Amino acid sequence: MNEYDSDKIVDVLREYDGYEKTSDAKEADLILFNTCSVREKAQEKVFSDLGRVRRLKEVNPNVRIGVGGCVASQEGNVIISRAPYVDLIFGPQTIHRLPALLAAREKKGKPQLDISFPEVEKFDNLPISLTTSQSAMVSIMEGCSKYCSFCVVPYTRGEEISRPLEDVLVEVATLTTQGVKEITLLGQNVNAYFYEQKDETIDFVTLLEYISEVPGVERIKYTTSHPKEFSDRLIASYRTMDKLVDHVHLPVQSGSDKILESMKRGYTRIQYLKIIKDLKAARSSVSISSDFIVGFPGETEADFEETISLVDEVNFDGSFSFMYSPRPGTPAAALPNHVPLNVKKDRLARLQAKLSKNALRYNQLMVGNEYEVFVEGLSKKDSSKLSGRTSNNKVVNFDGQERLIGHTVNIRMIEALPNSLRGEVITRD
Ligand code: SAM
Repeated sequence: MNEYDSDKIVDVLREYDGYEKTSDAKEADLILFNTCSVREKAQEKVFSDLGRVRRLKEVNPNVRIGVGGCVASQEGNVIISRAPYVDLIFGPQTIHRLPALLAAREKKGKPQLDISFPEVEKFDNLPISLTTSQSAMVSIMEGCSKYCSFCVVPYTRGEEISRPLEDVLVEVATLTTQGVKEITLLGQNVNAYFYEQKDETIDFVTLLEYISEVPGVERIKYTTSHPKEFSDRLIASYRTMDKLVDHVHLPVQSGSDKILESMKRGYTRIQYLKIIKDLKAARSSVSISSDFIVGFPGETEADFEETISLVDEVNFDGSFSFMYSPRPGTPAAALPNHVPLNVKKDRLARLQAKLSKNALRYNQLMVGNEYEVFVEGLSKKDSSKLSGRTSNNKVVNFDGQERLIGHTVNIRMIEALPNSLRGEVITRD
């Protein structure tokens, strides 16, 4: 989501005053940090990064420095008191107001702040994206209304609000006319998408149906969905909608009902397992990944063992796992029985070892078989190779000509590694 917002910031500033991106901070007239406050580590990083760019402003007082994203939402003026050389503070919902903030900074000669939540105004005021990529992200909703007890998102990004259907479709169509073939729909809980127009109510599945009809769309991905709203209709669409990729990222957080309740997730272990069972029945090739939090307040060894047994039961394919990090202002931060850091670390290591083993096993099962691979670009580790993704979200590196980038090719998998596969292009007469 932050990557999407960063791309939009670039679009806004290009249109406003011809700003261009540079990877060298020393060259920059404007240095912006787009921050995340989901966990403490990410939040502290911004202050150490700010310290580093301060020197550039000392050398050139015309350099402007801004902080955006959720740390900006949460800390607001505190950032200016901790780092008075910061010129702009903007939230995830006010990136379209950056030009006005920059202009006001010059006019008034003092730092400017706007961390309000002006609903969908943001989308109405963003320029059309320019892309040369074959894959693009499209935000379909903002914010979150789930209020999970550990999570800061509703307070930093505001309540859930869905973008009008027509706006989403226009953005998708604009992207496909520029050559985009793969669309990733973005939102905190995409399956909570809900938009009413005239005599029609559009839910997430209807939105997917519309998007799959847009000429040029070949693959549809989405992130993140929430188990609470993973409807039977959405599950059924895996039978009929071929453009939906073979992968669902469905955060579970814990395998213990006691912890799920304390997290206010709104589902039980059995309900989560039922979704997975039904999804696999609808499409057997679908792979599932998830998010986990270990060491939530009150989590006992027995609760943690239930998470481990859930991992065994579902056989997740790749996942993200985190130590619980208390966020200011969230209900869980005030709960008793916080888990000591050494216990959290130990549980995280045990969970990650299990998840990696599972992912490697999945990769090994793919060796020898053929897959359709969407070629994304050059391999990050070895630029003499190409890199692509299968429909079940696996990264594959292989030898091939650069002209294949942006196309779908058939690849035979030849070697499984822990986080990726090696493959070879299957050539036919
Ligand atoms: N909206 C999605 C959901 O709740 O299912 C996930 C979005 S959240 C921004 C991404 C992940 O960060 C969560 O699934 C959770 O695992 C993790 N996370 C959120 N708050 C956290 C916290 N306080 N401590 C540790 N991990 C956290």
